[in-house]
This record gives sequence, C-alpha cells and structure tokens, in this order.
Amino acid sequence: MMEIHAITSQPLKPRYQRCSECDLLFCVPRLAANQAAFCPRCNAKTLRGRDWSMKRLTAIAVAMLLLMPFAFTEPLINIHLLGTSINASLLQGIWQMSSQGNPLTASMVAFCTLGAPLTLVLSLLYLRIGHTFGMNLRPVLLMLARLKEWIMLDVYLIGMAVAAIKVKEYADIQFGNGLVAYLSLTLLSILTLIHMNLEQLWARYYPQKKRREGSPETLQVCLACHFTGTADAQGRCPRCHTPLCRRQPYSLQKTWAALIAAMILLLPANLLPISVIYANGERLEDTIFSGVVSLATSGNVPIAGIVFIASILVPFTKVIVLITLLLSIHLKAAHNLKTRIRLLRLVTWIGRWSMLDLFVIALMMSLVNRDQLLSFTMGPAAFYFGSAVILTLLAVKWLDSRLIWDAHATGNAEYTD
Ligand SMILES: [Zn+2]
Ligand SMILES: [Zn+2]
Repeated sequence: MMEIHAITSQPLKPRYQRCSECDLLFCVPRLAANQAAFCPRCNAKTLRGRDWSMKRLTAIAVAMLLLMPFAFTEPLINIHLLGTSINASLLQGIWQMSSQGNPLTASMVAFCTLGAPLTLVLSLLYLRIGHTFGMNLRPVLLMLARLKEWIMLDVYLIGMAVAAIKVKEYADIQFGNGLVAYLSLTLLSILTLIHMNLEQLWARYYPQKKRREGSPETLQVCLACHFTGTADAQGRCPRCHTPLCRRQPYSLQKTWAALIAAMILLLPANLLPISVIYANGERLEDTIFSGVVSLATSGNVPIAGIVFIASILVPFTKVIVLITLLLSIHLKAAHNLKTRIRLLRLVTWIGRWSMLDLFVIALMMSLVNRDQLLSFTMGPAAFYFGSAVILTLLAVKWLDSRLIWDAHATGNAEYTD
C-alpha cells in the first residue's frame, strides 16, 4: 500500500522522499532556505532548512580545539578539605576512576566527554581539508550522523553541579580556572550540533543526478545518509555507498539481544552499591536509589529529581517502551502506535542523560580522596549501570522503526477484514 502526499498545493520541482522512520513515500517541493519538511504520517523531521556554512563550522571547530586543553586539564572545581586544597579536572576524574575503580567504566566516561567531542572537531576539520584535496569524505559524514548523541559535555556539566552539591556537606567549594573554558566548549559544541546540517553537507559534497527510472514506488531510503533513490549496480546507496536494504537485516534479533542484556545488567546496577564513602573509619554504601533518597532528605529536592529521572526513570521507561514496541511488531498490534512512537522519541532524546551518575562518581573520586580520613570510591554497580545505558542506546539504534509501521499496516488490514 503506497500513499503519496503533497505537502504544499503548488510544488515547484517536487522530489520524492521516503521517511526514514516509517517508510512513507511523499513529495517534497523545493523548500525555502529556512523551511523544514516533516513526514505527514509519523511527523519525523525528514529535511532541515539551510544552516551554518562549512566556513563557520570550521571556525567553531578551531575555537573548540583551542579550548579543549584548558577545559580538559585545568581544574573545574576546587575544594578545601581537612586543611588541604584539592581540585578536580575532567582528565583527573577519569584517571582516578581508571586507577582506583574500573578502567572499562572510566573509558565509557572518557569516550562521552573527551573522545566524542574531539572526534566531532577533527571530523569537521577533516571535511574542510579533505574537500580541498579531494579525499573520501563519506566515512566521516557517516560517522558524524552517529556521533551526535555520544557528545555529553552538557550532561557532564550538570554532573559537576550534582558533585558540587554532594561535596558541600564535607568541604568549601570554589570554581576552578578551567570552568570558563569548559562552559565555552560546551556551548560551542551544542551550537555546532544544532546548526550542523548533514543533509546539506551530503548534497554539497556528493550531489546526485536526477534519474527517472521506473515508478517512484521502487525508490528506497538509505538509513545512513537519508538519501532517497535507487540502488547502484552493487546494491549500494549511490550517495554514501552503504548497502541498501528494504529493512535492516536482523533488526529485531539485535534489538532483543541488546535489550535483554540491558535488563539483566539493570538488576545488579540497581541492587549493588554504586558509590562507597569512607568517613571517620566508617564505610557507607549507596545504591542509585539510596543516593537519590539521601540527596532529597538533605534538602536538594530538584537535584534529587534530576538524578532520579536520569538514573532510574529513563532507563526503566526506555526498556518498557522498547519491549512494548517489539511485542507490537511480533503481535501486529494496531493500537496506540503514535503514543508509543512519541514515548520512544522522548526517551531516546533524554537517554544520554542516564550517564549523569557515572560523571558525578568520576568527579567525586578525584575530589574526595583523603585516604584514611575521608574517601569516595566507585561501587560495583557503576560498571553494570554504564553498560546497561550503552546497551539501551544501541537497542534503540538497532530497531528499524519501519518494522513497527509494517506490523501496524498488517494489523490494520487484518482488523478491517
Ligand atoms: Zn514517517
Ligand atoms: Zn546513503
């Protein structure tokens, strides 16, 4: 069943576009510079208006690269604890976590706060230089599309606020020298992610010739670069050279596998202690939940709310929504689809905030570390929690949402028969 919707009444040079989320085929007229196009069925944004030029993106990338050494190595928070002054920088936190805790958990923190932003900057610079020298830009453009949600400088910033409030019980806090650089870097990275229009970059570096072959129904959308067209001789997307397939192969199996693993990992993540504090010879253990409760009872209800949403509500909602979506595919359910899709988009959007707790732990470990008197270390739950969050991010990524609409269409057809 194929429907074609025209978005406006007088299309100038219309072109066919398939929605990458629900596979609907529709006509998009030539858009003005600041106009965006949305899928008429599932309301996914299919085309964005014109955005920042490569020149501006390169300038910002250079600025970010210059800020990085200061933002990552200079102290972000200083505290006075038991007569000594201690400071914590981003790198130090990761180092403490790696040497005293778990190198794997530390590398998760390192990837989201150091690796991903650095990759963004280097990719933008590569695009600028590579274009001049005629190098292959496809892998970099493909990677940029996947990188967005892994850049978590903003989440780390809130982590800093949570850590500062937690440490306030023991010590006086001052802002460090690196904070201004860190704030500027975070702001620039958010602006870059908002104004980087990959569709526009693809169209500019790899313009596609108009081909009119066969009926529009044979057009396929490439999930990697969102180009709508017909496969080349090797069955690949003509623009980005990713193999084109009608539906992602093994999408359901991979999503179930990631989801079940995440559900199993969420148990030790919530039952075991995530942080351990030694104070005056006493050992105090906190699970994720008891940490939220102790934040709330010490009068920081808004911060306790943020941690509760990020660490408990979002991961569990995401798992439940994914299970109902997967079951709706298997059972060909036709009800409340829009609500579930909206819920999935919402939890996908907030999903990255779940890493908050790990960032707080990394900071606390480098701040509160006075050996015998007072020290803060990571509990075993941190690793399970980080892995569960990453697995739920992957589960959403692997779920081909077009399958939901296929099942919906079959379910509806059976219902009306
Ligand atoms: Zn759609
Ligand atoms: Zn493609």
